[in-house]
Order: sequence, then C-alpha cells, then structure tokens
Amino acid sequence: MSVDVSVVGSGPNGLAAAVLLVRAGLTVEVHEAAEEIGGGTRTVSLFDDEVRHDICATGHPLAAASPFFRWFGLAEHGVDLLRPEIAYAHPLGGDRAGLAYEDLDRTCDALGVDGPRWRRLLGPLAERSRELADLLLGDLRHPPRDPRAAALLPARIALLASGSERRLFAGPEAPALLAGVSAHVMSRQPSLAAAGATLLLSHLAHSTGWPIARGGSRTITEALAADLRARGGRIHTGSRITDLRRLAKSRTVILDIAPRGFLDIASGLLPPRYRKALEAYRYGPGAAKVDFLVSEPVPWAAPGVGKAGTVHLGGTRDEVYAAENAIVRGEDPDDRFVLVSDPMAIDPSRGLPGKRPVWAYCHVPHGDPRDVTELVRRRIERFAPGFSDTILASRCVTAPELEAYNANYPGGDVAAGAVNLRQVLGRPVARWNTHRTPLGGVFLCSAATAPGPGVHGMGGWYAAKAVLGRDFERVIQEPRGRTSPVS
Ligand SMILES: Cc1cc2nc3c(=O)[nH]c(=O)nc-3n(C[C@H](O)[C@H](O)[C@H](O)COP(=O)(O)OP(=O)(O)OC[C@H]3O[C@@H](n4cnc5c(N)ncnc54)[C@H](O)[C@@H]3O)c2cc1C
Repeated sequence: MSVDVSVVGSGPNGLAAAVLLVRAGLTVEVHEAAEEIGGGTRTVSLFDDEVRHDICATGHPLAAASPFFRWFGLAEHGVDLLRPEIAYAHPLGGDRAGLAYEDLDRTCDALGVDGPRWRRLLGPLAERSRELADLLLGDLRHPPRDPRAAALLPARIALLASGSERRLFAGPEAPALLAGVSAHVMSRQPSLAAAGATLLLSHLAHSTGWPIARGGSRTITEALAADLRARGGRIHTGSRITDLRRLAKSRTVILDIAPRGFLDIASGLLPPRYRKALEAYRYGPGAAKVDFLVSEPVPWAAPGVGKAGTVHLGGTRDEVYAAENAIVRGEDPDDRFVLVSDPMAIDPSRGLPGKRPVWAYCHVPHGDPRDVTELVRRRIERFAPGFSDTILASRCVTAPELEAYNANYPGGDVAAGAVNLRQVLGRPVARWNTHRTPLGGVFLCSAATAPGPGVHGMGGWYAAKAVLGRDFERVIQEPRGRTSPVS
C-alpha cells in the first residue's frame, strides 16, 4: 500500500518530522529497526523490573529549549520535565565543587569573586534565552530574528574558542564548569564549534534549565508516538530498511539515519559528487556507557553535588581539556571525562528505596572496544568515596556495542558525526538546504543534520519544513493557535 511519507528511524528527529507531516494531512509510516521506538531516548529495566535506566540521553536542556518541543507542548502531552535546583555540578576534589544553580544569583554567590564575571558572561544570554535557543538550534540559513541576541555571541565565542576564559576567572570552579559543559561536544578543545555549544548549554542552565523527564527519557518519544498514532500515523518496529527502493511507493522519505546508513541503503542511487561528500563526512570519538544499580544516593564528598541533575567529573579545566584532546587524537588517557547522573535525586519514580539507577558514560577513542566499568567506577569513587560499596550490579555498553545498538552512533560517536566547524556549517554535506538530498522526495533529519546532536527534534522540524514548503507555516499555526517560534 502506498503512503505519502515514510520515515526511517523513530528517534526524536524522525518522530518530530512524522508528527508535523501527519498534521499536514499526509499519511505517515515510521520504520524502526529496533523492537522499541525512541532511538537515543529509550528507558528500560536492566537489573530489576522496577528500576528504570535511561540507555542514552538523560539530561534535557535541549528538549526544554527546543522550538519544536515548545510548539508540540511536552507538558500538554503528559511529559513532566523535572528541573533540578542545580543544573550541573563539577566536583574538584574534597569539598570543592562548581555548582551551576538554575538561579543565576545563587550561582554567582557561590562563585564568590568570580560571580560577577560569570554573570557578565552568561546573564545577558539568559535574559534572551529564547531568541538564542531559536538561533543556535536553527538551520543557519536564516538571519537571526533578534539581532541583539545574536550580537551577544561573537565576543563570547571568541573568548571561549581562544581559551582566554581561563584568565577571566580567579578560581578553578568557573573555568571547570565551562570546560565540563564544553566536553559534552566531544571535540578538540578549545574550538569554535565547542564554544558555540558551550554558550548554548551553559546559559540554558540559568533559563529553561537542565531537566530530566519524570519516568525516563522514553516518555518524550512516547508522547510523540502517541500523537502520531492518534492522527492515523503508523509505526513499524523491527523494520530495518536496508534498501531505499523498498520505500519506492512513498512520495516522500525522511531518513533519521546517519550518512553511513544513508550510503548503505542508497549508495547506487546517489549522484557521485553527493556520494563522495557523504563518504567524506567524519565521525568523532566514541562514548562507552556504564549503567549501575546502586543501593544509596551517590555519596558525593562536596556539598550540593547530590542535588545536581548532571555531574561532570574531569578535574580542573586544563585536565578536562587535556583528556578530551587526547581522546580526539585517539590516545588513551588514564584519567578522562566522565558524565554522571543519579536521576532519583530529582525523580524518585525511577527506582525503589535501596535500588536506584546511576547513569554514566565516558569518552573513548572512536570504536575503542574497552569495557570502561572499572575506569568509571574509580572516577566516581574519587569524588564520592564509598560509591563502590553501594554498587549492586553494573553493565557496560562499549563504543562498538553502542553502534550495534543504534546504527546512528558509528564507532560509538553519540553525536552522529564529528562536531567541527566544517560539519557544523554543512552537516552532513555543505549545500544550501542540508536536509534535502539530490534524490527527489528524499530528506535527511538525523543528528547528522543541522542543528546537530541532542534531543530537540529540530532536525525533524527542518526536514518537515523542506517537505511542506509554504504549508509548514499553516501546520505550525494550527494547534491551539501556537505561533511559529523560528523562521
Ligand atoms: C550514551 C548517550 C548519551 C546521550 N545523552 C544525551 C543527553 O543527555 N541529552 C541529549 O540531548 N542528548 C543525548 N544524547 C544524544 C541523543 O540521544 C541523540 O542526539 C538523539 O537521540 C538523536 O536523535 P535522532 O532522532 O537524530 O536519532 P536517534 O535517536 O539515534 O534515532 C535513530 C533511530 O533510527 C533507527 N535506525 C537507524 N537506521 C535504521 C534503518 N536502516 N532502518 C530503520 N531504523 C533505523 C535507530 O534504531 C534509531 O532508533 C546521548 C546519546 C547517547 C548514545
């Protein structure tokens, strides 16, 4: 049977495109290779039926700020984004830690002499957060809607990209906080690409926050899937597309897949120039994930850290950058950057008294097959003495296993492609509309398209916009008269 639109992949981007297109009156089918929808937003029980672990994404500053999710209305669709009092924390040993409270004043107070400098750097961005999120989660094809917001960026990007922020602050906390945020990008440090993302994420901590989803990240894609099904859309799980020609009866195909997957299913169909450009697309370092089942909250040595949604472990700013740069070079540093979340600190529904999930991952060289459980355990233990005694069970998903789990993470690259200036400006291929392909009716929407990785749905938003043309405005005006947040 023919359908108007086939979407390949049910990550947040694929489902975002699907819910937009079904509202335009098109028939939509989603094909998902895995047995479960959700891509990087799945939440499952691993060791105990009543303890739920986010397998990939857990922190949602981008979902909270995303123009797509603002339009969709996560809260109206039953998704409860819980905002921790402290967005992210960065222990520095003993009782010292940088704490990024959602409340900018408290953050500045805690930073002491560096407080006014932190406020000068991020305060103006937080005041224009919506405009900046629209711009930085945009497709880079349209002039900024608010030039005053855009004007706040160049000097700040130059400061971070040149590494000069180190000299701006007197104490180690503020530079370490920024370095921890920057390390999310998994790129050379410091760099222009990392600087832009750092400013986006660090200022969001003081505006829409760094929430986690009550009950787990899966609630986000479940809400999208429910909306799609309620409007007649269909989702086929266990349906891996291995040849684009299988979808020949669809007028439009939207691919929520990385360039490598696109090449696999469409190689013989692509014009040589575009194919070569896709082949030249580069993937970055990998991640290796460790899920722990523990008996107690993580016993962080530094006060306050236990209230944070996300914890960055990497020591000082210079130590974080040295480890990240070593990983980018394919080396294997002893100490490396580890991200940790103890979600029950904010969302008690994730587990039971005496049984709680702890989410952690560290960066590894591309494709590194090493089990990092011990490395991550030691890292957490260093800043939370006694943590090891609370571990009831654990499992590691190595970088190659992450790729096997989701083809969009080649070599464990959770960003679906290196984040460098070239691949920020033309992701995955430099052309005017990167969501279009030279194949008529075939569009791209994954994290390997603008605006890049994260749970924000904006790749799907721009792919749907490319499909619908002028009709897009009508669609996004429709539900409850919400207005278009971005051009
Ligand atoms: C360990 C880890 C931690 C992360 N943490 C965060 C975080 O805290 N916050 C955040 O915002 N982001 C985080 N991310 C990144 C985030 O999960 C991704 O950027 C996001 O999910 C990308 O969405 P997507 O729709 O582009 O692709 P995905 O969510 O990757 O979904 C793509 C889907 O396509 C399917 N697929 C692929 N090929 C085919 C095929 N040929 N046929 C059918 N189906 C196919 C896959 O099975 C998958 O379900 C994390 C990622 C990982 C792996």
